[in-house]
Formats: sequence, structure tokens, C-alpha cells
Amino acid sequence: MDFSFTEEQRIWHDTLHSFMEKEVSREYTREHDANRDFPEDVYRKMADQGWLGLMVPEEDGGVAADPIMFAIFCEAIGKHSLDTAACIMTSMFTAGNISRHGTPEQKQKYLQPFLKGDAKFSISISEPGSGSDAASARSTARLEGDEWVLNGNKVWCSGAQLPGATIAILARTDQDRYNGFSLFLVPNTTPGLDIKKMNTVVRKSLGTTEFFMDNMRIPKNAILGEVGRGWHYIGEHLEYERLSIAASQVGNARTALDDTIRYTKDRKQFGKPLSSFQVLKHRMAQNEAELAAARLLVYSAASKMARGERAVKEVSMAKLITSETLFRIAFNGMQALGGYAQLPEYDMERYFREAKHGMVGGGTNEILRSIIAKDMGL
Ligand SMILES: Cc1cc2nc3c(=O)[nH]c(=O)nc-3n(C[C@H](O)[C@H](O)[C@H](O)COP(=O)(O)OP(=O)(O)OC[C@H]3O[C@@H](n4cnc5c(N)ncnc54)[C@H](O)[C@@H]3O)c2cc1C
Repeated sequence: MDFSFTEEQRIWHDTLHSFMEKEVSREYTREHDANRDFPEDVYRKMADQGWLGLMVPEEDGGVAADPIMFAIFCEAIGKHSLDTAACIMTSMFTAGNISRHGTPEQKQKYLQPFLKGDAKFSISISEPGSGSDAASARSTARLEGDEWVLNGNKVWCSGAQLPGATIAILARTDQDRYNGFSLFLVPNTTPGLDIKKMNTVVRKSLGTTEFFMDNMRIPKNAILGEVGRGWHYIGEHLEYERLSIAASQVGNARTALDDTIRYTKDRKQFGKPLSSFQVLKHRMAQNEAELAAARLLVYSAASKMARGERAVKEVSMAKLITSETLFRIAFNGMQALGGYAQLPEYDMERYFREAKHGMVGGGTNEILRSIIAKDMGL
């Protein structure tokens, strides 16, 4: 089996890495993390390159990347910043949903500004009482004449507070556990929507929110696709979402390990570089091997998807293993950098914080293990 990139994939990889090197530098990422600022200029520059349209088909103005090209993209951003990766990718999945299920008017209203970098999307599934058990969500949408009336409390909705954001809100139009959900496109300026930013230690640039809907009225045509299909629409992009997280975690783990190697080679104690102490050397060697294995899982899942096959188990395995690999690498990095690991200017504390979140966001590791077990017939 040949694991090397094709010529086209290699050129894409190199183009992305030189763009990220220039536009998403360490200083840039640190500053945006510290100030909780969205990387607006990078978002626009990516739009100018046409990259926001990676999940949008050509007939809707996108470039429809295959899953391997998409994974290369996610790995490249993640190498520089997991938060920036989330800032770019969160919108992409809803854009894909609008392409697949939107009316011509919705495509005109939402997709065209998005592709130009003038609009963003966020996805609202979670509620205070429904996290892993997302299908127990209770927010409701009721049709009254020409309007839907939405009520409920959503939580962890990342990016909902950003200027120009439209939220894809999952709400109950019926009591059926899965077929009772519909998906609505709601601009964040809609009256009756009260959005509060949450003070998280991760995803500081993207930001995440809690919001309340108090008899929020939206037009009848704000529904995306068919009544009762919301759960299925959200599920459609789960494989891409998990692939994207896994690939960006691999990119970030590479940087965290490279930083550890560089630091331990430079830093001397007892008259020798830290890297000469066997305990540290072996930890880094172990991490190198684990990272190589994790990366193979990502591209193996992407290859399966590129062949047009479902890869629910493969993306679950990739996200599970890459999150644990990144966490171990960042944890060992925190130890190897000693006290300096605590300083934001050494970046390790950011990798560590983001690594921990990787075990929860986009489906917790326990839930991923349950998905894998189910596929194994357990
Ligand atoms: C920074 C951040 C950004 C987020 N962004 C979004 C977003 O944009 N949109 C959105 O809708 N959601 C978002 N989320 C929500 C995220 O998807 C949930 O946090 C996640 O699904 C877990 O839900 P929970 O936090 O309620 O934990 P819970 O479901 O309460 O789980 C708590 C613990 O119990 C374990 N557990 C639960 N059920 C089982 C089980 N059956 N078997 C074994 N263990 C179990 C979990 O694995 C976990 O370890 C975000 C979360 C964070 C922290």
C-alpha cells in the first residue's frame, strides 16, 4: 500500500502550509487567544482563496474538495492553531447542509455571502440537559400562521455571537425521538434571541455561547429542508466533522511535539541538554510513534470516504486516537518544559487546554468508543 501523497495532494499540502506559516503565525494565534478575538482577516483571506467553499459543490460556487484534500486542509490549519481551525470549519458544515437542502433563495441569501467571507454559521444542538444524549433536546418550534415560534435554552453554541452569524438551530417540531427534529436558519440578530458568551478556557477565538429563545418568531421559510429531517441533516456531516477534528489534532500534535523536541535540545540542566536524559528522549520517541499511527488512521478514514464508502467507525477511531495522542504529547510537553510550560509565550499550555477539549467536543471519547463497539457488534 502506498501512503504517500499524489503530486496534486503534495502541491495542495505545500500551498496550505506556506499560507498558514505566513498568516497564522504563533504570535498571531497567541494574541487572538489572549484577546479572545476571531481571526477575521485570516477568514477573509481564506474566502478570497475559495477555501471556504471546500464543502460546497461547484454548481453552488464552491470547490467540493474530496475528503483527503479536506483532511490535508484541516491538518494544515490545526498545525498552527486548533482554535483557528474551529473558526474556519464550524461554518463549513452548515454551508454544506444549505447546499444539499436549501431552497434557491436560501442559497442566495446565505451561501453567496459566506463564500465571500461576509457571513458565518454556527450549529446549535446541545442543551443544558442534553449533551451526549443530544436527541433528548427539548427546545421547540411551533408553526403559527406564516411564522415558526421557537422556545428553549441552547448551550455551547460556538460562534453564535459573531457579527454576521446565522445559527442552524435544532428544535423539536414533534415528540418522535429522531424524526421529531427540524433545522432552522436563524440570524443572530433575530428579536427574541438572547445570546450570552461563555467564559471557556478553550476556543477563545471562536467563542461559545448559551442562548435563550423566548417566543422567538421566524418566517415559515426559515426551515432548512423538510420538517422532521433536522436530526438526519445534522448527522450527514458528522463524518466530515470528526475527520476534520482528527486531522487538525494531528497537525497540532506535530507542533506540540516539535516544540518539545526543540526546547529539550536547547535547555541545559546538569550541564547537558534535557533531550539527552533518557526518560525524556524515550517519551518523545514514544510520542513520535503514536503520532505516526494516529496520522495513518486519519488518512485511512479519509481514503475510505474518498472511495464513497461510509466511515463512521473509521472517523470515530481517528478522532478518539488523535485526541488521546495530542493529549499525551501536550501533557509530556508540559512536563518537559518545566515551569516555562505555564507561560502563554511557550504555547504549550494552549496545546494542553485545547487537547483536553478534543476529548469532549464533537462527541466525547466515551461516546466514540460506544460507536466503535456498536460497529463491532457489541
Ligand atoms: C468549547 C465547546 C464548544 C462546543 N461547541 C458546540 C457547538 O458549536 N454546538 C453544539 O451543539 N455543541 C457544542 N458543544 C457541546 C459538546 O458537543 C458537548 O459538550 C458534548 O457533546 C458533551 O456533552 P456534555 O458536555 O453535556 O457532557 P455529558 O453528556 O453530560 O457527559 C459527561 C461525561 O459523561 C460521559 N457520558 C455521557 N453519556 C455516556 C454514556 N452513555 N456512556 C459513557 N459515558 C457517557 C461523557 O463521555 C462525559 O465524559 C461544545 C462544547 C464545548 C465545551
